[in-house]
Amino acid sequence: MNVHDSQKLAGILEHEGYVKASSASRADVILLNTCSIREKAVEKVFSELGRLRALKRSRPELILGVCGCVAQQEGRELFARAPFVDFVMGPRAIGSLASTLSRIREGKSGARRSVDTEYRDDSIEFPVDRIRREGECVAKAFVTVLEGCNHRCTYCVVPMTRGREVCRDMDDVLAEVRQLVGRGTLEVEFLGQTVNAYRDARGRTLADLLRASAEIEGLRRIRFTTSHPAQMTDALMDAMAAAGPTVCPYLHLPVQSGSSTVLRAMRRGHDRDAYLRKIEGLRRRMPGLALGTDFIVGFPSETEKDFDETMSLLDEVRFDTVYSFAYSARPGTAALSLGDRLTPEEKRARLGRLQSRQREIQEQNNRAWIGRDVEVLVEGLDKREGAKWTGRTPENRVVHFAGSSAPGRIEPVRVLAATAYSLQGEPTGTFA
Ligand code: SAM
Ligand code: SF4
Repeated sequence: MNVHDSQKLAGILEHEGYVKASSASRADVILLNTCSIREKAVEKVFSELGRLRALKRSRPELILGVCGCVAQQEGRELFARAPFVDFVMGPRAIGSLASTLSRIREGKSGARRSVDTEYRDDSIEFPVDRIRREGECVAKAFVTVLEGCNHRCTYCVVPMTRGREVCRDMDDVLAEVRQLVGRGTLEVEFLGQTVNAYRDARGRTLADLLRASAEIEGLRRIRFTTSHPAQMTDALMDAMAAAGPTVCPYLHLPVQSGSSTVLRAMRRGHDRDAYLRKIEGLRRRMPGLALGTDFIVGFPSETEKDFDETMSLLDEVRFDTVYSFAYSARPGTAALSLGDRLTPEEKRARLGRLQSRQREIQEQNNRAWIGRDVEVLVEGLDKREGAKWTGRTPENRVVHFAGSSAPGRIEPVRVLAATAYSLQGEPTGTFA
């Protein structure tokens, strides 16, 4: 989502006639698009600002803006720590970037040191042509369908930084997808903090959007992220299963903890059994579905026994991908009042145990693919892999292979080897 926001910011700049500078030291405008989900991400912003301070001192005409969730969270406070910053702009206010920049350049009073942290509902109606989809393979594109979040998980800043949910009209989303397909996009990924809560003003849901987009000719793959377990309804599971192969057999469904006690304290809206019932319902309908999740380790009330339940959930579900994080106390969240009871060492130790068990499971899951033929959407060359082509299967598995190919091609590849994080194979030239 942040990558996509950066693409929107870059698109506005380009539309205003700016071109990309060869380095920060030669830039007229520098924007930091920031994340505040964990303390570490916020620290990164301030250390980056520390590096930019000297540049700004030597070139006062340089315009330096802080955008994204740290901007939203800190607001005017940000100037206290970084007085050389010119403006602060939250994620739902990026539509006003062009006017903010021109006001600063024209020397309008109050333009410098301005703060825009309004939640504009029209922030979601971003002019599609203005998105600079840099950094993505041309065959893949993100498409925002929903902004904000109406949940109140007790550890999370997102509802404060991104505001309440607003959904785009389904016809606008479909028009964007058609436009992208016309330009060579083969895969779209629908984005929303709780993308499966999508419901437009006419009551059309993500299930409707999946059904309608699966019919767009030329579109080969549809993904969506992130789904909330509480909104993973039977109707949506049925729609996923019925939409056919265009809807990729991969679902990211964050659970956060294996302990129902911790889930209650997190106010997640699901307990362990409810989550497992969702997984069972998904696998019954889609036996080949690959699953990803997120875990937070070391939530303030998490006991050793609670953590054991997280470990046992790993074995019970055998996820294909897991993102795991040490709990980070965030300003303004309900869990802040619980304190941060585990030491960093304790959290690190639990995280280490979780990650090492998950590595074993992932390696076993991936090894089961050896000998099978897979369809890879090629994203580019991976230098770390000895300049091999890299891409993903519909199940979201990363595949590396040698031979002739090009970004944006869909290649048939036979899997020859596997690690916990990727598959290695050789192109077969033809689909079986
Ligand atoms: N909306 C999505 C959901 O509900 O799953 C994802 C939100 S967040 C951008 C991505 C992940 O960051 C979460 O799933 C959670 O695991 C993690 N996260 C959120 N707040 C956190 C915190 N205070 N400390 C550590 N990890 C956190
Ligand atoms: Fe944060 Fe919970 Fe909303 Fe996800 S569902 S963004 S974790 S509050």
